[in-house]
Amino acid sequence: MPPPAKKALPFPKDHVYLLIVTTIEQTLNEALYHARGHIHTGKVASYIPELAKSDPEHLGACVMTAAGERFHAGDWQQEFTMQSVAKTITLILALKLMGEKEVFSKVGVEPTGDTFNSIVKLETKTHFPLNPMINAGAIAIAGSCVKAADDAYASFLKLARKLCGRKTIGMDQNVYNSEKMAGMRNRSMAYLMQGEGVLECDAEDAVDLYFRVCSTLANTQDLAHYALVLANNGKCPQSGEALVEDWIVRIVKTLMLTCGMYDGSGEFAIKAGMPGKSGVGGGILAAAENKLGVAAFGPALDSKGNSVGGLLIIEYLSQKLGLHLFSGNVHYSGALLGGDSSASGNPALYAPVT
Ligand code: GLN
Repeated sequence: MPPPAKKALPFPKDHVYLLIVTTIEQTLNEALYHARGHIHTGKVASYIPELAKSDPEHLGACVMTAAGERFHAGDWQQEFTMQSVAKTITLILALKLMGEKEVFSKVGVEPTGDTFNSIVKLETKTHFPLNPMINAGAIAIAGSCVKAADDAYASFLKLARKLCGRKTIGMDQNVYNSEKMAGMRNRSMAYLMQGEGVLECDAEDAVDLYFRVCSTLANTQDLAHYALVLANNGKCPQSGEALVEDWIVRIVKTLMLTCGMYDGSGEFAIKAGMPGKSGVGGGILAAAENKLGVAAFGPALDSKGNSVGGLLIIEYLSQKLGLHLFSGNVHYSGALLGGDSSASGNPALYAPVT
């Protein structure tokens, strides 16, 4: 097969372009430097024993632009388990397999304000989990996939490989075993939902798929590629192939914006202003609409289970490159990133990066 044709750039590769490329590269390095000074405030996840072995000093990031440029920094090549980042992929899979109506007959679309693994609202509010980004909601979605697909994990892997642009993505057997052994809280939610008729498959089958998807390995380039697909309305940035239907992209990005960082979602929306998703493996991705995909990795987590370094890197990039959805703040990077380069920036709109 001939290599895919490179997309024509909507602007010349002149000295302005080179200046912008250099600026993004520099900003990414600055973001890492800025974040490194804070990662000691976080702790690696230990409730899954295998994750406790992660190195809290790891820090890396990758940016991929709609124009086809890639930028890397730090430990960008280090693989980590996707954990809750995978919840967005199982949601895409479920929507593809069953459609919107069926999927949202089992799970809601509202933020909880609770921790990602909270069980409380399943008992006190409704037996239907509030959204697909918390554990209960993702387990319900996994249950739907188990019911709808012959081999749900094979379908997940096929989709994840396309979204990440890498055919060799696979599972970390040790993390999977560790999750299986330690996942009693997840099992409790699954059995409760099975008892109430939310899960239409065996609770053990639903959590098994959930543990597998969480234990799937990726690096920041894989996740930046996936984020760019989302930013690019579901199209593969290289081939132009429509990987995700636009109605699905709309739902997934909306839920990422409102619920992707659990009880830290509002703060992230204000600071970064992009749909994002984190995982306790230390990965985090964000999609800058029609502009770029970014992913960062740092296993030291804050009290909400979000990567300390990852959040800071993405927030820094958003503020310095003018990526916030609602700021109208487009800096010099606008032309390269496909945004409106004529808009004037007002950095005072943002809380200063300290
Ligand atoms: N596998 C993890 C769990 O079930 C995923 C949580 C997360 O990444 N926030 O707790």
